[in-house]
Amino acid sequence: MSKLDIISIRNQFPILHQEVNGKPLVYFDNAATTQKPQAVIDALVKYYNTDNANIHRAAHTLAARSTDMFEDTRKTIQAFINAKEVEECIFTKGVTESINLVAQTWGRKFLQAGDEVIITTMEHHSNIVPWQMICEEKGAILKVIPINEAGELLMDDYDKLLSSKTKMVACVWVSNALGTINPVKEIIQKAHAFGAIVLLDGAQACSHLAVDVQDLDCDFLAVSSHKLYGPTGVGVLYGKRELLEAMPPYQGGGEMIKEVSFEKTTYNEIPYKFEAGTPNIGDVIAFKYALDFVNEIGKENISAHENALLKQCVDGLDAINVKTLHATSLQDKPITLIGTAKQKVSVQSFVINGMHHFDAGMMLDAKGIAVRTGHHCTQPLMNRLGLDGTIRASFSVYNTLEEVDVFLEAVQRLVKLSNK
Ligand SMILES: *Cc1c(COP(=O)(O)O)cnc(C)c1O
Repeated sequence: MSKLDIISIRNQFPILHQEVNGKPLVYFDNAATTQKPQAVIDALVKYYNTDNANIHRAAHTLAARSTDMFEDTRKTIQAFINAKEVEECIFTKGVTESINLVAQTWGRKFLQAGDEVIITTMEHHSNIVPWQMICEEKGAILKVIPINEAGELLMDDYDKLLSSKTKMVACVWVSNALGTINPVKEIIQKAHAFGAIVLLDGAQACSHLAVDVQDLDCDFLAVSSHKLYGPTGVGVLYGKRELLEAMPPYQGGGEMIKEVSFEKTTYNEIPYKFEAGTPNIGDVIAFKYALDFVNEIGKENISAHENALLKQCVDGLDAINVKTLHATSLQDKPITLIGTAKQKVSVQSFVINGMHHFDAGMMLDAKGIAVRTGHHCTQPLMNRLGLDGTIRASFSVYNTLEEVDVFLEAVQRLVKLSNK
């Protein structure tokens, strides 16, 4: 176990200290959204109590204050992902909007009929549908890197898909459904050898892994605040300056312009060119406190703790299989783990044979345990695996080994029920 002070970490999360259905809440749905520390909640309240004003426009004190705080978050995320320049960080509503922005601006300008876009079998819908939309519009072709049974990309097949027709490789860094960490550095190097651009969906990776966009040399990275202990409705699109400058604006409106007349409008510099309208100022400001929270603990300490939780969970599920096999001499194991990649973050999907994942989710909820059930916005992945959904437990820095034990005990009871 790591050297984290879990009690003091948990004490920063007021939501964790409640009972659900008469049991202490066990929150294992962190891949869907993480809880928010008190500092983030306080920052939101303080912003609306003392600082609220529109940014970048007025000469008055409150406007200056909120502008400074808003831009402070931009500097913090720049450092967090090690972007070369602060202007390379654009605020969006989330990963979904960040990917749509690239598909609709870069894609509209640079994709042509016959060009190819490569994604993977394990993409979240938000890194599939925007590419389907622009490919259809442009006559470009979407190609998919297959996976093995463990949920790992087949890199030889990736090599075969790459060609001079490849213009974009859009790849999830860490799978939300399986926990797989993809070899993104290798993916990027290989794509660049063919002159293709690479976008990484960083929704899950950014809370678990160290992020260095310059070292990775990715062209775009999509980040989500709400998966990273920050507020919902905020995301970041990192893009290399020369790409962002070459791209047309996403939406038209205020803030993104330099000068407007009825004859002609000139666009603002990056990042403002892509930030039309009044942004989600309060939530962007509060997001900084989430990043500070992560920085204070340190990614290495966070992932060491989360990996210990994952190991205990996987070992426990394996032990239930062994015990049940002895007890019932069933041919089939009662639990099938889904997603057993060698490189993983603290996400474990599984199915209980003979029990629908939705029923399992309801019964776990009755014990105060929050997990995700269903397709996890990855229907093509579920189809590939021959499943209509899984039960997914996903762990975060504030979860404990004791909670994993409570969860395993509850799963053991479900297995008994499914055998009746
Ligand atoms: C949550 C998630 C998304 C969507 O992110 P939003 O910020 O909620 O739009 C995309 N991809 C993955 C892998 C995710 O986990």
